[in-house]
Amino acid sequence: MSYRNITDLHTHTERSFDGHYPALVMCEQAAEKNIKTIAVTDHLEMYAYYRDSFDETARLSYADTLAAREVLSGKIEILTGAETGEAVYDKALSEEVLGQYDYDIVIGAIHNLPDKDDFYYMDFSGDMVFYPLLDEYFYWELEMAKWARFDTLAHLTYPLRYIIGNYHRQVDMGRYSEIIDEILLTLIKNKTALELNTAGFRQPIGVPSPDRDIISRYRALGGKLLTVGSDAHYTEHLGANIEDAYDIALGCGFESITVYRKREPYFIPIE
Ligand SMILES: [Zn+2]
Ligand SMILES: [Zn+2]
Repeated sequence: MSYRNITDLHTHTERSFDGHYPALVMCEQAAEKNIKTIAVTDHLEMYAYYRDSFDETARLSYADTLAAREVLSGKIEILTGAETGEAVYDKALSEEVLGQYDYDIVIGAIHNLPDKDDFYYMDFSGDMVFYPLLDEYFYWELEMAKWARFDTLAHLTYPLRYIIGNYHRQVDMGRYSEIIDEILLTLIKNKTALELNTAGFRQPIGVPSPDRDIISRYRALGGKLLTVGSDAHYTEHLGANIEDAYDIALGCGFESITVYRKREPYFIPIE
């Protein structure tokens, strides 16, 4: 890798419903790949927290991460974390859960609208009218930014991976420039980071979430806290396209990216 300080702050283990490998294996592989800092951020879906046993996920993922940290001490920095999904749909529960663990980093994500399926499962083909769903998606992303009990906002523009990437629909993003500005300004005001999620590079859409335009806009508005994550669900995706993300960050005027330790931001030079 041409960058020295590779950080990957968004990864999933077998404790996630869509993960495959134990935390120790993920972290060992990350160390092998010369990743300096990794965060284990398994899914905690707040709208189904007890119904789908995410309380168990939280407990096991956290314990696995601490055990991996112990075993790999001196080889790689391992951060405890979680990807809280749909947290603003139940703020009281989310705040209670986040208070139960001494996380290094909490990612805030929206994968589905209230009482709807994950965008991943939706059919956007043909005449399907997706704008009302996107309108609602950005409304909830703004609500997340206002809530601000997390450290970094995950994969902003997530639905585009499917609407544009998988279904080849045209999306007029000009329609959302105002609310995206409001989301970015709210993150900045609340000292919450924006995530540059590289999963899109290896998906049909071919660009990260959010894309370079939004990263550049965030910087222009005064944003300084940028985290980078592969969203790896397999060992082979650990660190994937992090260098491309660093290229984008540098190109947009960032000299450092951010990691979180005990929920406090630290700047890591992009070098
Ligand atoms: Zn996610
Ligand atoms: Zn994820």
